[in-house]
Amino acid sequence: MLDKIRKVERVFKQLDKETEKFGKESKLRCLTNCNLCCFKKGLEANVLEFLPLANYLVKNNLHEAALDLLDTNPEHCINLAKTQVPGQTAGCSIYDHRGLICRLFGFSAVRDKNAKLAVYTCSHMKNEFPAEYKLAMERINSGMNIPIVADFYYQIYFIDSSMANDYNPINVSIRKAIEKVAYYYACKPAKKVKAKANPQEEKDE
Ligand code: SF4
Repeated sequence: MLDKIRKVERVFKQLDKETEKFGKESKLRCLTNCNLCCFKKGLEANVLEFLPLANYLVKNNLHEAALDLLDTNPEHCINLAKTQVPGQTAGCSIYDHRGLICRLFGFSAVRDKNAKLAVYTCSHMKNEFPAEYKLAMERINSGMNIPIVADFYYQIYFIDSSMANDYNPINVSIRKAIEKVAYYYACKPAKKVKAKANPQEEKDE
């Protein structure tokens, strides 16, 4: 389980580097304090992409509160911050642990049936930055680097195909991920404490 979580986190780290680079080069960016994509109805995700979040919640003993919140069947993602601080980025309350879909949207590309790339983004960004959007659409089809949605889904598919194929409404996937990680820790044998003859050994471990 921990190995899979680390692997997913590595994919996220790489993706974050690539989306940041694309954002800088294309000059495309989210609208200030915008969180409309998180409010989208029918948002789906797979279980695997929320393992890192689940691990964070369980390790910090926040998972019971998250499960209680999930029990209320909220309409939107449970991580959507309820209160927004003026001047700060609105939206996700667990930004560092968000899922793959959350990281890809806006700064990645999908291929159409003719294998032509299109920026995978929202109408608000297209309307706000029409010139940047148009230029990015041209440049990504003539060599500009952009993360490709399918490539990143393939990468996590090879970490665990079963969890990567388990698609649900976002809150259902978050619940499943929390349950899996909590179960893992509950069943994990307690680490044996070895008596050390040499205290230096303990320091080096
Ligand atoms: S995890 Fe965060 S970024 Fe992803 S949908 Fe939920 S609130 Fe939005």
